[in-house]
Amino acid sequence: AYLDRIAEVDGQIHAFLHVPADKALEQARAVDARRAAGEKLGPLAGVPVAHKDVFTTKDMPTTAASKILEGWQSPYDATVTERLRDAGLVILGKTNLDEFAMGSSTENSAYGPTRNPWDTDRVPGGSSGGSSAAVAAFEAPLATGTDTGGSIRQPAAVCGLVGAKPTYGTSSRYGLIAFASSLDTPGPIARNVLDAALLHEAFSGHDPRDSTSVNEPVPPVVEAARRADVSGMRIGVVKELSGEGYQPGVMQRFTEAVELFESLGAKIVEVSCPSFTAALAAYYLIAPSECSSNLARFDAMRYGLRVGDDGTRSADEVMALTRAQGFGPEVKRRIILGTYALSSGYYDAYYGSAQKVRTLIKRDFEAAFQQADVLVSPTTPTTAFRLGERIDDPMAMYLADLCTIPTNLAGNAALSVPCGLAPEDNMPVGLHIMAPTLADDRAYQAGAAVE
Ligand code: GLN
Repeated sequence: AYLDRIAEVDGQIHAFLHVPADKALEQARAVDARRAAGEKLGPLAGVPVAHKDVFTTKDMPTTAASKILEGWQSPYDATVTERLRDAGLVILGKTNLDEFAMGSSTENSAYGPTRNPWDTDRVPGGSSGGSSAAVAAFEAPLATGTDTGGSIRQPAAVCGLVGAKPTYGTSSRYGLIAFASSLDTPGPIARNVLDAALLHEAFSGHDPRDSTSVNEPVPPVVEAARRADVSGMRIGVVKELSGEGYQPGVMQRFTEAVELFESLGAKIVEVSCPSFTAALAAYYLIAPSECSSNLARFDAMRYGLRVGDDGTRSADEVMALTRAQGFGPEVKRRIILGTYALSSGYYDAYYGSAQKVRTLIKRDFEAAFQQADVLVSPTTPTTAFRLGERIDDPMAMYLADLCTIPTNLAGNAALSVPCGLAPEDNMPVGLHIMAPTLADDRAYQAGAAVE
């Protein structure tokens, strides 16, 4: 049924880059066979999932939506991929994204943009915009995403879905094509909090193949989603993450969500996190710095595209031609920014200062979590914007992640749940719930109470 739905609507939505339908059906039959053989399978066995095309898959292409990886076939599965398969989920196909997960609209894909199923003139958010659009358009019940600065929560919010960024290190980066390694976090996108929790549990947990993996039990998110209770919970409204500059309809729905928490027995407190105002600036030094280093591996020798290798050119020339043709403008912008920030003489002023801001943000979270069990804000300052509206204005594009970035810099957990439509454009608004490190379950518990 999902393959039929994809055939019906994906020409218009373009959520998927690859849909190997035969392989999906093969996987579904294999799950049936495992069940028939008496294997005890988990709660999601047989459920289809749309998989972000930044996780490697050994039987399907992996492009990270970049021309530089066109035609490349991974010889191995990412840990997230492997765990989806082990749990019996059926991978329907690979979803579109901003090239190397750099962006907030999916317009930076080298294979063309994805459209928001609520209004196809608008973006589905990004970078996991293919995943959010697939779930919103009923092309898949569940999807995977990755969140480096907001790329799960922001697309989930603007498509009216639930999206979670787990605590950093609790979901494996092995086989996830790296953007900014100290921030990249795989997580779930779903239509409701319980579905997101089930997917979260299916692929999370310690992985010895990821050097930053945390060796701790996965927080009990499914149990928390079922509990759905905020009575007695202290909910902190972050002063710096609302108010001026936010779309009025977003603020209206956010305020109502806070009132709903209160009516359900939560205690509302206001908290201040002064360093959050510097988070965006710090992120746009740290993320490009790490990206400039990570993307050095695309050297025309090891993967995918190779341009101008006709026997007349040096390796350096082939590398330069390949990178010039293989990377899109946003990726190049970030590589240049990061290379500059890391160069000797500038390192302390830029990268060093950004790392200090990162520490201050962590301390702000620690202080705020003394006063509140979870923190809340809108997920995004505005609802989904129109295709083309911000593509020539990187700063405007970067603002989409204003509320989500502090959590990536500190490494703690957060969830976005739908909280109605903005009256001015009838587009979905997201409520952002942040929880301490390894307390992801609190965000799920609070989110499930108000979804
Ligand atoms: N929009 C942010 C960026 O462009 C975040 C992307 C992400 O989380 N992958 O970097």
